[in-house]
Amino acid sequence: MATHSSPERLQPRPGILDIAPYVGGEANVEGVQRVIRLASNENALGPSPQAVEAYTALAGELHRYPDGGSVALREALAELHGLDSDRIVCGAGSDELISLLVRSYAGPGDEVLYSAHGFLMYPIAAKSAGATPVRAPESNLTADVDALLSQVGERTRLVFLANPNNPTGTYLGGGELRRLHAGLPAGCILVIDSAYAEYVEAEDYEDGAALVREAENVVMTRTFSKIYGLAALRLGWAYCSRPVADVLNRVRGPFNVSQPALSAGLAALGDQAHIAASRAHNSRCRAWFSETASALGVAVLPSVANFVLLGVEDADDLRLFFKSQGILTRQMSAYGLPSHLRVTIGTEDEMQAVVEALSKYQGEGA
Ligand code: PMP
Repeated sequence: MATHSSPERLQPRPGILDIAPYVGGEANVEGVQRVIRLASNENALGPSPQAVEAYTALAGELHRYPDGGSVALREALAELHGLDSDRIVCGAGSDELISLLVRSYAGPGDEVLYSAHGFLMYPIAAKSAGATPVRAPESNLTADVDALLSQVGERTRLVFLANPNNPTGTYLGGGELRRLHAGLPAGCILVIDSAYAEYVEAEDYEDGAALVREAENVVMTRTFSKIYGLAALRLGWAYCSRPVADVLNRVRGPFNVSQPALSAGLAALGDQAHIAASRAHNSRCRAWFSETASALGVAVLPSVANFVLLGVEDADDLRLFFKSQGILTRQMSAYGLPSHLRVTIGTEDEMQAVVEALSKYQGEGA
């Protein structure tokens, strides 16, 4: 006999219906054939041709299960970055790893801390685990270590820091990262989300791998969705201490990463010339676009990533104007930034089109 009476209607766990579903960047404009897609921080140059070839070559193997241990990819990542392959866990995008980390270490009554304009998946993952997301204020749209530390309490289980952060494009140097970690209790995990690490050229930047090596309670997450240009395949990885890797390997699905993702990822890793070219293109184009947009009277937040945040009076008006010109950018009100618009750095031609549209918009507004 059942000991609990059955609820009268279907009801998810408390907190689930408080989640505002993540809304991705727009991808199409009705009636426009050549859309310029600058809403999702994808690589302007796309993936390496070698990755495309590896993906295509798998067409005859779709009936086979993937390598559930992601062995070849983990070994290649370890070799490239000087890491231990058994401390790497691969996931279906870093989004999956973020969710698994939260689900494994936080639940009802626990807190998940992040900075005010941090990546939206952190509060979503927290709420879906029944935990409470806590936002710490930022200074100049940059994570503030003291503000984060002042919010750390007995219930804090994880602290997420996207470095550089999406959508602001700002970052903390290695010294600040270490100061943040030093202020956390041993039972709280610092997750350094380095999704955009490969784009960063600042000398004081650290991706977080060295800190993972030094401390059990630090995790670095990475993705193939950004500079590697493989967002469609959903491939990310985490570098962790052995106890955390063990936990993630227990909770992840046995075949959580598809074989096309593993094989294309491996081939993409092998083409570092493509990564260097993508980084160089991004730095050049971002500098030119930032300067040109500033000269047109638009505030541009300095960014180390492959996107910039424009500060404008009526961001939605500008977004709709861009859209009318076939250019898709990202609205920021879900991030609490209603007067900002995020623009991914595209190809030279695409950025030229953005500048032309911006110049027209500013001219019309004047
Ligand atoms: N972290 C940050 C900071 C991001 O901007 C994104 C993608 N928008 C992700 C993680 C997730 O990337 P993916 O799941 O595609 O690896």
